[in-house]
Amino acid sequence: MSLCATAPEPIAASPAIIRERGQREVFCGLTGIVWLHRRIQDAFFLVVGSRTCAHLVQSAAGVMIFAEPRFATAIIEERDLAGRADLDDELDRVVTRLIERRPDIKLLFLVGSCPSEVIKLDLNRAAARLDERFGRLPRILAYSGSGIETTFTEGEDACLEALVPTLANAGPTASLMVVGAVADIVEDQFRRLFAALGIEQVGFLPARRAGAMPAIGPNTKFILAQPFLAATARALQERGASRITAPYPFGAEGTRLWIEAAATTFGIDPARTASVLALPARRATESLAAVRAKLTGRRIFFFPDSQLEIPLARFLARECGAELVEVGTPFLHRDLMEAELALLPHATQLSEGQDVERQLDRCRAERPDLVICGLGLANPLEAEGIATKWSIELVFSPIHGFEQAADLANLFARPLARRALLAV
Ligand code: SF4
Repeated sequence: MSLCATAPEPIAASPAIIRERGQREVFCGLTGIVWLHRRIQDAFFLVVGSRTCAHLVQSAAGVMIFAEPRFATAIIEERDLAGRADLDDELDRVVTRLIERRPDIKLLFLVGSCPSEVIKLDLNRAAARLDERFGRLPRILAYSGSGIETTFTEGEDACLEALVPTLANAGPTASLMVVGAVADIVEDQFRRLFAALGIEQVGFLPARRAGAMPAIGPNTKFILAQPFLAATARALQERGASRITAPYPFGAEGTRLWIEAAATTFGIDPARTASVLALPARRATESLAAVRAKLTGRRIFFFPDSQLEIPLARFLARECGAELVEVGTPFLHRDLMEAELALLPHATQLSEGQDVERQLDRCRAERPDLVICGLGLANPLEAEGIATKWSIELVFSPIHGFEQAADLANLFARPLARRALLAV
């Protein structure tokens, strides 16, 4: 199903996609713990890794002063590397201590890392063993957040994929599942819109609480709220659910098309959909107008990092009037991006994968107004006088939906304003 507002140019008319397989500059999947622990409020994330992993999670998430922390790292010491059996026992001890001390934990994730993968510590088996031992209270699951050949948003994908087998079987009533961690306020806004449309059975994966995860079955239609969930989408389809194809709910247009796609799937009268969406869509467009002027004509370059690049580029080009110099993505999942690719300006230069030095050369030659990239590239580019935006901030911030459209545009406009001040 294609949902473009106007007939797109055939994708064949686009410049050839640059495909690179060189050195990359990306974070690892442990980063996902930062937003996942905020979203699932009774979950705990136990990283099984090194001191480096502990530092990464701690510095990315900050120190929680007023609440009991909901993430920690079980450090693999050098002496642990001597024998596997000891490591299993040690992990069991750590988990037992944690569960005894923290009855508030309802869902415990053992999160694998590069070191645990290198020594081939089987966390899936450990999770299954501990899950059984504790009688599934809490539920204990495992996933990998390792940085070996992955990008940082794949941590969420792996986490949600691990949840899929635990979802209850849904009954015969058709239900809608929104997939991808969104901010609580975004969930509330989407719920109100779906209720106004008459779609009653709506679940969110992940839910705010372990006990509220949605059920799944052949009558479940799911729609992705995040574009980086390829493995989760496959796992949901294997359980009989079907995916609703749509652009992602970023910006007024993206949100409208996303909700329209769900409404069409549920047989909602298009006139009703149009009337429910008219006011929030108009408000979003109006609030965007003030920021649009700051972005119109600005030349923007995306380095591949979060897998949000293509939907955000579409938003910047179509709703903010920006010019896309290059849109890099770590992977191009054509089926998950079908509706987005149809909306991109046909001359957009896409790149998949990364050879960081070559891409930096292309970026420097183009002198874009704004570069969206990982933290590692931001400082050197800023030092060269190029404004940057950290792509990771776009995953941390509530950016989905009508009411966040102007905030999303502002995230791109702010670094331009800051650089303009520095230039004075
Ligand atoms: Fe570093 Fe790997 Fe640990 Fe991530 S998982 S912090 S990349 S060692």
